[in-house]
Amino acid sequence: MIKNSKIRIKIKISFNKNKQLFLEKINMLIFISAKLSILKTNFGNHYMKQMRKKIELVNKLLIEKYGIPPRSKVPPNPIDLLIGTILSQNTNDKNSYKAFQNLKESYKDWNEVEQLTRTQIETKIKIAGLGKQKSGAIKEFLSSLKKEKGSISLEHFRKADNEKILNELTSFNGIGVKTASCVLLFSLRRNVCPVDTHVHRTTNRIGIVKTKTPDKTFEMINSDLPEEVAHSFHTNLIRLGREICRPSKPSCLICPLLKVCEYDKKNLNGEIKYKKNDFLLLDRIK
Ligand code: SF4
Repeated sequence: MIKNSKIRIKIKISFNKNKQLFLEKINMLIFISAKLSILKTNFGNHYMKQMRKKIELVNKLLIEKYGIPPRSKVPPNPIDLLIGTILSQNTNDKNSYKAFQNLKESYKDWNEVEQLTRTQIETKIKIAGLGKQKSGAIKEFLSSLKKEKGSISLEHFRKADNEKILNELTSFNGIGVKTASCVLLFSLRRNVCPVDTHVHRTTNRIGIVKTKTPDKTFEMINSDLPEEVAHSFHTNLIRLGREICRPSKPSCLICPLLKVCEYDKKNLNGEIKYKKNDFLLLDRIK
């Protein structure tokens, strides 16, 4: 009898010890997880602050090199801008501008263009290349807008927030984040920086972001963009990407960002190519 009660006491003591150890371990895990979460937030905040500072610095250095890019006094109509952006895909701005003028000057308004067949639109925009694809996107956009809203107008965007506009425009076939964000910046004058291949490549080389796709770059940059920088930052980066920071063999020796750029494959071997290329379609659309 006495032997049994001794065993019970021993089991109880051991159970209590294990329970205490278990609780200590749980407390330790909660403590570590809280610490990690604070570190993660601090790292995120630190990273965002660094990104913001770098955007401000790069914007300043590019303005010193290229100046503040000119803008039209009256912002273009959102439909004009959107169609101009569709025409600008994978071609140079001079040809897409000619295609835009050709289409716009041939008809009274976008209602008339909507009535055309896809092939009739294709004939008018031939010079911009990818005629079948671009005429299809234009025809589909105009027809869907008319069907959904009852008229070809995006005037309701003037009072809408950026997220709503991005969601609405990207719901149309053939319209991506870049085209939608160009409407925000150039037509509605919002502080939003569109990201094309030049902006994606240069911001990654410089070390502003480390991203794999233009859409991810867009998300990162616009999550904390300094006020009033979008137009000059976007426009001057495109010019830098065309003239100096080209996809292959960038001319790093004449780059205004040489001292702040983090790219580890800079071209410093003395071969310098430079050709001025400052014709930007989206600032020409009236
Ligand atoms: S230093 Fe070279 S890689 Fe860096 S931004 Fe300038 S041209 Fe591009």
